[in-house]
Amino acid sequence: MTTTRACGPVPSRTGPHARVPGPSVPSRTLEPVQELHDAPLAPLTTFRLGGPATRLITATTDDEVITAVREADETGTPLLLIGGGSNLVIGDKGFEGTALVIATKGYSLDGTSLELAAGEVWTDAVARTVEAGLAGIECLAGIPGSAGATPIQNVGAYGQEVSSTITEVVAYDRRTGETVTLANEDCAFSYRHSRFKSDPERYVVLRVRFRLEEADGLSAPLRYAETARALGVEPGDRVPLAQARETVLKLRAGKGMVLDPEDHDTWSAGSFFTNPILTDADFEIFRTRAKQRLGAEAEPPAYPAGEGHTKTSAAWLIDKAGFTKGYGEGPARISTKHTLALTNRGSATTEDLLTLAREVVAGVREAFGITLVNEPVTVGVSL
Ligand SMILES: Cc1cc2nc3c(=O)[nH]c(=O)nc-3n(C[C@H](O)[C@H](O)[C@H](O)COP(=O)(O)OP(=O)(O)OC[C@H]3O[C@@H](n4cnc5c(N)ncnc54)[C@H](O)[C@@H]3O)c2cc1C
Repeated sequence: MTTTRACGPVPSRTGPHARVPGPSVPSRTLEPVQELHDAPLAPLTTFRLGGPATRLITATTDDEVITAVREADETGTPLLLIGGGSNLVIGDKGFEGTALVIATKGYSLDGTSLELAAGEVWTDAVARTVEAGLAGIECLAGIPGSAGATPIQNVGAYGQEVSSTITEVVAYDRRTGETVTLANEDCAFSYRHSRFKSDPERYVVLRVRFRLEEADGLSAPLRYAETARALGVEPGDRVPLAQARETVLKLRAGKGMVLDPEDHDTWSAGSFFTNPILTDADFEIFRTRAKQRLGAEAEPPAYPAGEGHTKTSAAWLIDKAGFTKGYGEGPARISTKHTLALTNRGSATTEDLLTLAREVVAGVREAFGITLVNEPVTVGVSL
């Protein structure tokens, strides 16, 4: 890890006060709001849920980010970092403190080295790398939110995770007041987890650096059977980059996993629960229980998850516990396209969403003895 002194002079905050985007505009539209008070946070999240923040600042440069963070820390004001708001469940009471929207911009490609400012829209960056003929993040197309949030939960989909291509993360360290460069191995990446997620009060990601691959316009080897099947090739094969990206986008759209303001199945945080990782012994106990409940032919999904561990599917557990697509009668329901996404049908509150989430957790626990863990970050509430 290397360190540099943080931040230059305090930037002026005299710019125009733009409005927070309205509810029909997804959070990816990060308008240059400078500072608002008692500002609703719901329009900044893909769930469109959450009460107001005492103060809402939008920072468009690293210096503005650092200044806002320092000011909050020096005054002991609680701080909430927001990128695209696509992995946030904010309580109905909102957030008493400063909510800081990171809207910095910067896309810089040098050979196969890519540097993205934290506020860059991730899907746009993926599209640009595909256009540039570089492989490594093409299967992460369609994941909403900002580049700076990708290391937080080591975003992944369709056989790729950012931990495979991230070389360095430049972050402001709130403990030391310095800007640090963390190498990939310092980030403690694992399945939907990282050092940043386990120590959420410490680092503010400013920039993320990636090493991509020049493979004659072809994708990285396809690791996900569903993608390979859809493309009519074998897992491990490479296909033209644009085809890989478009196929992933199509598969995702079919599951409500690409933002569409008109489609309530996408008023979500994507997967609401992580896939449970069990010791091999616990997996066998679960497998026996599943067969007792569902019949001898039932075979729970099992994927290798490192020495002595097996990962199973949260979507399978939810479905087999009786929470099928579209489940629910209130304004928060399971997506009609994917059992793993909890959604706001338009008039839900965070409490409605949490009531549904708790019902699913209790039902799965009762059926299979496994306690699901939420993937999105909760603010002022818990399951
Ligand atoms: C329809 C849909 C599909 C999705 N599909 C996937 C998927 O396939 N795979 C996947 O992994 N995720 C998926 N997600 C979840 C989400 O898009 C990702 O986790 C994304 O990286 C979140 O980015 P964000 O900018 O919206 O983060 P936010 O929701 O704004 O923030 C998430 C967390 O990161 C913190 N944070 C944000 N920016 C910074 C920063 N610069 N420095 C430090 N902390 C920061 C926040 O404080 C918060 O704790 C999906 C979500 C939706 C709505």
